[in-house]
Amino acid sequence: MIRTLFQIFKTGIVTENVLGRDADNIEVLGSKLSKIIKKRFRGSLTIRQIDAGSCNGCELEIHALNNSIYNIEQYGVRFTASPRFADLLLVTGPVTLNMEIALKRTYEATPTPKLVVAVGDCGCGQGIFDENYATIGAIDKVIPVDARIKGCPPTPAALLNGILQAIS
Ligand code: SF4
Repeated sequence: MIRTLFQIFKTGIVTENVLGRDADNIEVLGSKLSKIIKKRFRGSLTIRQIDAGSCNGCELEIHALNNSIYNIEQYGVRFTASPRFADLLLVTGPVTLNMEIALKRTYEATPTPKLVVAVGDCGCGQGIFDENYATIGAIDKVIPVDARIKGCPPTPAALLNGILQAIS
């Protein structure tokens, strides 16, 4: 235990600064997010991410939120593998026919406040994969949606902004 603590102390902070046009934006969004999470969610917002039929472009940006640059955990946001522990569902689309029931069941298994954020143009019903023989389309055709994040794919800053809108 002492060795682990010593290692943590020796390593220090390993996150890197966000560079480019998103830098100031991320700091402001992160600070707002952190305040609301402390007030409304006792310092910890838990997210279950669901791929309801995306091309994985949106997922790459969502994964970036967890890397050493964006490090979303510093604001009190964590991802979980189970909807039973989730405060918020982050759903990418379009919803495929094969994912419709799974998405409904995941929503039913999520406890209150059951917040849902539709991610990407496809999830919002305006993407290149709209309704077709294999997809239903927008997330809100299957479950209620509290906030929408447009973009193909949306940037990490846009994702933070959408999460902020949903919990505000
Ligand atoms: S919005 Fe763009 S990146 Fe996201 S699933 Fe649709 S096509 Fe892929």
